[in-house]
Amino acid sequence: MAHGFSLGGVESLRPSGLNRCLPIIREQFKSLESTAHHHSTPPPLKTVGHPYPVTKPGRLPICSNLPADITISPMSLIVQKFGGTSVATAEKIHRAARRAIQERLNGQQVVMVVSAMGKTTDELLTLARAVSPNPPKRELDMLLTTGEQVSIALMAMAIHGFGHEAISLTAGQLGLRTDSVHTRARIQSIDRQRLKAELDAGKVVIVAGFQGIDQAGEITTLGRGASDTTAAALAAVLGATVCEIYTDVDGVYTADPRIVPNARKIDAISYDEMLEMASAGAGVMHGRAIEFGMRFNVPIHVRSSLTDAPGTRIMTESEGMEAVSVRGVTLKEDLASIVVTDVPAQTGVPARVFEEIGKKNIVVDDIVQANHAGGQRASLALLVDSEDADTATELLQRLAGELGIGKVEVFRDLSKVSAIGVGMRSHSGVASTMFDALRSATIPIWGISTSEIVISCVVAAGDGPNGVRAVHDAFDLSAHDDNGTDA
Ligand code: ASP
Ligand code: MG
Repeated sequence: MAHGFSLGGVESLRPSGLNRCLPIIREQFKSLESTAHHHSTPPPLKTVGHPYPVTKPGRLPICSNLPADITISPMSLIVQKFGGTSVATAEKIHRAARRAIQERLNGQQVVMVVSAMGKTTDELLTLARAVSPNPPKRELDMLLTTGEQVSIALMAMAIHGFGHEAISLTAGQLGLRTDSVHTRARIQSIDRQRLKAELDAGKVVIVAGFQGIDQAGEITTLGRGASDTTAAALAAVLGATVCEIYTDVDGVYTADPRIVPNARKIDAISYDEMLEMASAGAGVMHGRAIEFGMRFNVPIHVRSSLTDAPGTRIMTESEGMEAVSVRGVTLKEDLASIVVTDVPAQTGVPARVFEEIGKKNIVVDDIVQANHAGGQRASLALLVDSEDADTATELLQRLAGELGIGKVEVFRDLSKVSAIGVGMRSHSGVASTMFDALRSATIPIWGISTSEIVISCVVAAGDGPNGVRAVHDAFDLSAHDDNGTDA
C-alpha cells in the first residue's frame, strides 16, 4: 500500500555503516506502519543495524602522544525511554536524568523519550469526559499531548540542574510526521536534521513520546502506550545501538508474576516471540514498538528504572533460542466467542461476513471455520473483545437472512491461555503437553488455535489464571533458564 511519504533529507545523516542499506530501510519503513498485522511474516531484513552490545572499535586518529595501538569506540547513540511510573516524581526524574548523563559520560549520544508522569494521561482523559461525553478526537490529542510536554521540560531542567546540556523537543519541533488519524495515528517519517544538530552540539535530546504532527501541522497521538513506539522508531532512524525501555518491572517474565508467583525473568527473547506475547495479552510493551525493532533490527532492552540489573533483551532469533519449546505463557481476558452454525459452505460467505466486521472496525482475535454435512454446511466461530461482542452479534444476525445462516450464538466471559515459543518449530508434543496440563487441572477447552510459534486455548474466564499456572508448570518454565539448562 503506497502511503506516499518519504524519509527525504535524512539519508545523509544516517551512520555510514547503514547508508548502503537505506533503500531497504526505506521500503521496510514504508510498509511498517501501513500494515496492520504481520506477526507471521518475519522481515527479510536481517543484517541492518548493530549487534548488541556494540563492538565497533575505531582507531584514535589525532592524539599522537597516545600509544599507537590505542582504540576508542566511535560515538554511538542510545535511545532511553522512560515510562510514566519511571518519571512519576521529581526524585524519579532525577534518577532517569542521571542514567542519561552516565551514558553521555561513557561517550554515548543520548536520546531520551519520556511518557507523561504517573497516571497523567488517565487523569486527562477523565477530565475530558467530565466536560464532554464525547470529546472531538482532535481536541483529545491536543489535551493528552500536554502530559508528555510536562515530562520533557522537567527532564531537561533536571539534566541542566546536574550541570549537563539537554534540550526538550515536541514531535512538531523535531518533525515526527504521522497520518491524520487522531488518537491512533501512524508514523510516516522522522526528520533527523534537528535531532542530529542537537546531538552534535553535545546535548541530551529529550523527545515527547506518544505524539506526532500531521502534514497540516495538527497534533496527533499514536495510541495508548505508544511512547515505546516513538522510542523504537527514533532508534531505527538514528541507527541506535539499543533502545532501552525503562519501566517499573525488571523485564519480561515467563508469565505474569501476579498470576504465577514463580515466573522467571526472560534474559533474551526473539522479536517474533515478543510480538506474539504482546498480542496474546502480555502488557509489557506496545506491539508496534516491537515491529519497529524487528524491521530495523534494533535490539530492545526492557529493564527496571530502579536497578542496574540487566532486563530482557528483545532481539533477532539466535540458535540457542529454539532449545526450549515454550518461552512464555500469556493470558488474554475479556473475550467473547460468536458461533455461527449451519451456514451454507459457499465461497464468499466468510468474505461477506468479514467485510461487514471490518466496516465496524471490530478486531477479530481468532477465526475458526469447519465444514460438515458432506461439505455442504459450515460453522464459523469468531473470538472478539467483549466490548465488540454485541456489535458483532447484531451484525451477524442482520446477515442471517441474506446468507442463510441457521443460528448465531454468543458465549461471553472467556479468556485465552497461550503458550509461545520459537522452539515449537523443532519440538514435538507441545500441543499435547498443553492440553494435558489443562485436563489435569480439570479445565475444559472451548476452542483451540495454533500458529507456527503459538498454541492458544480458549477457556472460561474463571479458569484463566489456573490454566496459565498449569501450562507454566507443565513446561517447567520456572526451573529452566533461557537455554533450557537447569538454573
Ligand atoms: N502517556 C501515554 C499513555 O499513557 C503514552 C505512554 O505512556 O506510552 O498511554
Ligand atoms: Mg507503557
